[in-house]
Formats: sequence, structure tokens, C-alpha cells
Amino acid sequence: MSHTRRKFLQNLSAGAAALSFPSVSGLPNSIPFQQKKLGIALLGLGYYAEHKLATALEETKNCYLAGIVTGTPAKAEKWKDKYKLADKNIYNYETLDRIADNPDIGAVYVATPNALHPPYAIRAAKAGKHVLCEKPMATSSKECQEMIDACKKAKVKLYIGYRLHFEPHNKEAARVGQKKEFGNVKIVETSMGFKIGDPTQWRLKKSLAGGGAMMDVGIYCIQGARYSTGLEPTHVTAREYKTDPVKFREVDETISWQMEFPDGAVSNSTTSYASSMDRLYISAENGWLELRPAFGYGPLEGRTQKGLLDLPKTNHQAVQLDEMALGILENRPIDATGEEGLQDMKIIEAIYRSIQSGKREKI
Ligand code: NDP
Repeated sequence: MSHTRRKFLQNLSAGAAALSFPSVSGLPNSIPFQQKKLGIALLGLGYYAEHKLATALEETKNCYLAGIVTGTPAKAEKWKDKYKLADKNIYNYETLDRIADNPDIGAVYVATPNALHPPYAIRAAKAGKHVLCEKPMATSSKECQEMIDACKKAKVKLYIGYRLHFEPHNKEAARVGQKKEFGNVKIVETSMGFKIGDPTQWRLKKSLAGGGAMMDVGIYCIQGARYSTGLEPTHVTAREYKTDPVKFREVDETISWQMEFPDGAVSNSTTSYASSMDRLYISAENGWLELRPAFGYGPLEGRTQKGLLDLPKTNHQAVQLDEMALGILENRPIDATGEEGLQDMKIIEAIYRSIQSGKREKI
């Protein structure tokens, strides 16, 4: 991958993209464009699907909740009533492949525990449906590549749920950093963490989560440093810390790491399941930008040395879903792709390698 990385800024001008109207599964071509909406099936009806994605889909203009895939019959009943879903648009993990025959559904949104993203995403792709998949994309770069290959083979799009790519404060951080508003970025500091509860949850099981805080929310710190510099890090040095080795016997609790960028810039980041953090700080030659909170659901706040950022507070998921729907409906460029998810996973793997080796590792 090239060292320069300007794609994140594509969203800023996506509205001007040329329109083409490919035949999209779930979208009869006889319907005029203005009426076309992408039918989405949510797969894995847990917290995020129920409280963030389904509610966002009530606000979206370019897509709507067309179906569900769930392993829990009681949820199927509840969602069917609440969202007036037709029986034929309700699937479980055994019947998922039959979604191929359902023209109502154009895309499947995978929101299961991390380790289950690849098998369900690949099955959705094989069924000819576009794939929207939550972060982290998978739990290894090998699986990320398999997902990319499967979607390419099936000629469907693959987008990762990086909602901050569509969020005004984070887009401004990317613009300020990449357009060198305050000169070259020299240092980026990012942190994201929260105090995790229930010790029995899947997020603390390596087989389902792949890792701990790093996989779950550390990924936002990696993202923040990458889009603030517009560059790809070349090396990483990381350390892991545990205050509760029993609760965190399978996955990481707290990790601090540094990433080196090809122009000499460096990022310093911490992620944790022990306590709360949520900040992005960009220090450039002639100025700075801070977002705090930066990565949570918001409302996000930001400032530079010139004063407060006056930017819209958005529903992250609704904007993300609408932009992704347009990416599919109009073939617009979207940078929250599978390749983006793969790049983060390669960095996460280098971070874990550095923890094991105690050395600076090449990414
Ligand atoms: P939950 O545990 O609340 O929900 C996961 C759902 O996946 C379950 O309810 C279940 O739905 C389904 N599932 C299928 N197989 C299993 C299994 N073996 N064990 C547990 N659940 C299973 O998780 P979240 O909603 O919090 O997270 C889901 C995904 O969304 C994760 O990848 C996470 O990283 C991501 N996420 C992203 C956020 C963001 O801001 N972008 C925020 C929060 C989460 P069913 O009963 O319908 O089968």
C-alpha cells in the first residue's frame, strides 16, 4: 500500500461524484432513481444492531431495514412486530444462504462478535449481497484478505463500520492534518478506553473477540493517527499492562504503543478496558487540534489554538449508513473499505508482535 493516504478526504467531495446507476440486488431497475433505497438485513441482533443501527435506519434516506438474520427466535418475533417485517425477510444462521433469492435485500450488515464476521460476511457475499461489516473487520489479516477476495469474486462491495469516516469533527481532523493547515503534523496522541463490566462477556474471550481493548477500541486510535497524518505507519513499539490478570487472562486490558510514520511523525496511543479515555490530539509545526471526546458516539467536541470547532453534531450511524448506501447505489468512492480494515489489522498484528518480542516491529 502507498505511504500516502488521502482517501479519507474523498468523503469531503463525494457529493460531487459522477452518478451511475448499476443494477443493484434488491433494487428493481424500473423504479426511478429518486425512489431507490437500499434494503439492508441486519445480522446479529445484539446491542449495536438494536440500539444504534436499527434506530439509525429509521432516520436514513438512502437505505432501510429490509430484513434480519438472528439465531434467537424470540428476537425474530420482537423485531418482526416492531419493524413490520415480512416473514420471508427473516432468516437465521442456517437459512442465511437462501437470502440469495430475496430481491428485497441488497446488503447484509454483520454485527456479531468479531471472530464471526468473516464466515457470515463471506456467506452474504456468496449469496450475492453487498457486505457491511462491523469493526474490527476480523481477528486476523489473513481472514480480512479472505473477505476481500470473496467480495471481489462475488462482485459485491465490502464496507467496514468506520462511522467516524463520515463524522464532521473527525473529517476536520483529517483535513487539518492532511492539508497541513498548521504545517506538517509532527506528533499525534490518541486514546480510547472504557471500564468493561460483565466478566463473562464475549469481549473477554479470545476465541470470539480476537483480542481485548486493542481490537475493540484501540482500532480507533490507529485510525485517528492514520487519518490525521494521511500516512501509513512503518514501525510500531508496544507494551501491555494488566491490573486484573484474572479478568483479562485471555485478552489485553491496557496497551500503550507508538507508531512511526515515513516523514518522521510519531503517534503515541493508549487503549484500555480498565478506565475511560477518548481523545485525539494533533500537534503540527504551527498549531494544534484536539477532539475530546473524539471517538465515542458523541456529541463530539473539538478545538484548535484558534478556538472551538463549530461543526454539526450528527447521528454517526445514520450518516454512515446513508453514505454507504450511496456508495452501493451510485458506485461512489467510499474509503471505509475492506482494504482499510485489512490495513488496521496488519497494524494490530504488529502491535501484538511487539508486545511479544519486546522490540520495535516493522508493520
Ligand atoms: P452483542 O453481544 O450485544 O451482540 C452480538 C450479537 O451477535 C448477539 O446478540 C447475537 O445476535 C449474535 N451472535 C451470533 N453468534 C454469537 C455468539 N456465538 N456469541 C454471542 N453473540 C452471537 O455485541 P455488540 O452489539 O456490542 O457488538 C457486535 C459487533 O459490533 C462487534 O464486532 C463490535 O465490535 C461492533 N460494535 C461496533 C461499534 C461501533 O461504534 N462501530 C459499537 C459497538 C459494537 P442474535 O441473537 O440475533 O443471533
